[in-house]
Amino acid sequence: MQSAAARRPARARPTRRGAHLQEAIRAMSEVSDDRLIRVDMTTQRVKIEPFPSEWKLLGGRALSARILLAECDPTCDPLGPANVLVLAPGVLAGSAAPTSGRISVGGKSPLTGGIKEANAGGNPGQDLMKLGYRAVVVTGQPADPERRYALDVTREGARLKEVPDCKGLWNYALIEHLAESYPATASFLSIGPAGEMRLKGASVACTDQEQARHPARHAARGGLGAVMGSKGLKYVAIDAGKSPVRPPALRKEFTTLCKGKTKQYLSGPQPFKHGTSTSVPMANMLQTFPYRNRTQGQSPDAATLDGARIVESFETRGGGMHNCLTGCIVQCSNVVHDRDGNYKTSALEFETLTLLGSNCGIASWEDVADLDRLCDEVGLDTIETGAAIAIYMDSGAMEFGDAAGAKGLLREIAEGTDLGRAIGNGAASIGRRQKHHRVPVLKGQAIPAWDPRPLKATGVTYCTSPMGADHTAGLVVNPGLPAEQMPRASQKNQIINAVCDSSGFCMFLMPSLDDIRAFYGAFTGEEVTREEIAAIGWRCLQDEWEFNRRAGLTAADDEMPDCMKEDAIGPAKVVFDVPPEIVAQAYQRMEPSEDWFTSPGTA
Ligand code: SF4
Repeated sequence: MQSAAARRPARARPTRRGAHLQEAIRAMSEVSDDRLIRVDMTTQRVKIEPFPSEWKLLGGRALSARILLAECDPTCDPLGPANVLVLAPGVLAGSAAPTSGRISVGGKSPLTGGIKEANAGGNPGQDLMKLGYRAVVVTGQPADPERRYALDVTREGARLKEVPDCKGLWNYALIEHLAESYPATASFLSIGPAGEMRLKGASVACTDQEQARHPARHAARGGLGAVMGSKGLKYVAIDAGKSPVRPPALRKEFTTLCKGKTKQYLSGPQPFKHGTSTSVPMANMLQTFPYRNRTQGQSPDAATLDGARIVESFETRGGGMHNCLTGCIVQCSNVVHDRDGNYKTSALEFETLTLLGSNCGIASWEDVADLDRLCDEVGLDTIETGAAIAIYMDSGAMEFGDAAGAKGLLREIAEGTDLGRAIGNGAASIGRRQKHHRVPVLKGQAIPAWDPRPLKATGVTYCTSPMGADHTAGLVVNPGLPAEQMPRASQKNQIINAVCDSSGFCMFLMPSLDDIRAFYGAFTGEEVTREEIAAIGWRCLQDEWEFNRRAGLTAADDEMPDCMKEDAIGPAKVVFDVPPEIVAQAYQRMEPSEDWFTSPGTA
C-alpha cells in the first residue's frame, strides 16, 4: 500500500577522511573480493569469477537486468538452453542493515516473453552474500531432461552434483530430506514438481530463517521456477556456516544508520505488524478485493478472509508473526497453525487470500491456508494459480466456492494431468483451454489483487512496467488521482521499487531512496548522490524495457485486457479507461521532486 511520505532531511555525507580512511580502505578490499558463480548446465562446469568492481552498486533486480541484457538472447525460448537464470541478492544482503537480505531471481519469463525479476525473502540472499557471492548465473541445459542437479555453495566454493533421489519431491519433503545431509545453518532455493514439469506458473522457493527453514518464501511471479526446472536444477544449497556479516566501509556511520532506521520503524505505526493479510478490509472498501474472477470488486466473505481471523487463531492454536530472514525487524510473516496446533503454512498474504480465496469465491481462510500450502509444496505462484482456478470456475467447469475442488486441481497439477498442466501453465493457458472470454492477464501474466479499475495509476504501472502486471513493480493506492498525474505517480513508484528490489531491503521496512543511498554510502565508503540513486532505478527500467523491445514486445503488449476495460465494478461502475497516450507518458523520464527521495516504496 502507499504510505505517507516519511519526510526527513537528507543525511550527512559519509566522509572518506581522517579516522575512517584506513577502515574504509581495508573494508573496500574485502568488498573487492566479491565474486560471481557461473554454472553451465550443458557441461555441468562451475566457474567462480571476480565480481566487476564497476557493478558494486548493482544488486538484486538491477544486477539481474544488467546481466540478462548483456548475456541472454531476448528472442530465445524461455525454457531452452539460451535462457539465463540469475540469482542475485541485493547490495546490502549479508550486512547488518535491518530487513535487507532479499534475493532476486531473474530470467526471460515463459509467461510474459519478456524479462522478469521475482523478489523473495528467506535466508539464501543473506547467506550467498556472507560468502561474498553477488550472483549465481546459470546457463545452458543438460542433454538429458530427466536428470536433476543441485548446486552446493560453501566457504570452500561451489560444486554441482547429480541428485536423482530428489527428482519429483515436493518442496517441504525435499527440505526435510536435505536436512539429513546438510548442516542446520544451510539455506535452500528449490523447485517443486511444477518447476520440474516446466509449468509457466512455477515458482522458486526459498527457505526462511534457520530456526524454521520452511520452503515458504517464493520468488513466485513470471514462471521462473520453470526456467530453473528447464536447467535441471532442483535446488541450490548455501551454507555460510558461522560467517560474519559483511563489513561496511564506514562502520560507525553504518551502525548509526542501522540503529536510526530500526528506531524510526519500531517507533512508527508499523503497518505490516500483522502481515499484509490484514489489508483485506481496506482493499474490500476500495473495491480492490476481486471476487469471482474479478466480476466484482468486493467480496461478501471479506470478514472470514480478513487476516485478523488468522491473528485471532494464534491464541488457541499457536503460530504467530515471524521474520522470514535473519535481521528482519518488521516480522510481517504470519505462521499459520491448524486446529491441532501443528504448523500448516506461513506467510498467508493478502494476495493469496484474494486470488485463491475471494476471487475463487472461497470464503474460509483455512481453506486458503490449505491451498497456499499446496502451492508452496508443488512450487506455484499463488497469484497466477488462483487466477487460473477462478477462470476455470468462471467458465462453468467448477462451482465458485468449491474449495475441495480447488485443492483437487492443485493435486492434479502435481500429478501432471492435462487439466493440471493447463492450470499450472497459468491464467492465459486455462483461458485458452476453456475458450473463456474473461481472462484478466496482461503480457500473459495474471493481474494481481490490486485492481487497475479503482486503482488506475496502478493500472498504468501494470501496462508500462517491464514486469507486466506485478503490484510489486509500482503500486499506487490513490483511487481519486487525476489521470494526468497517473504516469508520474507510476514512474515514481516504479523507480523507488526498482531501487528497493536491488538493495536487498524489504519494501515493508519502507526505506526511501535517501535511506538507501545513505546505507550505500556508509557501506561502500563513497558518497552516493540523489542523482546517482535515482539513475540506478531508471537504468534498471531502461535495461528491462530494452530487453523486452529486443524480445519483440510492442505497445500492443501494454494493452489492458478487455475485461478490465469493459466489466465495470462497484457503485461508481469503474473500468480501466486511462487513454493510451496518458499511459505511454510513464515511459518518459520525469524530473524527480523532493518526495521521490523521501517516500518509501510500495508493496
Ligand atoms: S518484512 Fe516480511 S517479507 Fe519482508 S523480510 Fe520481513 S518477514 Fe520477510
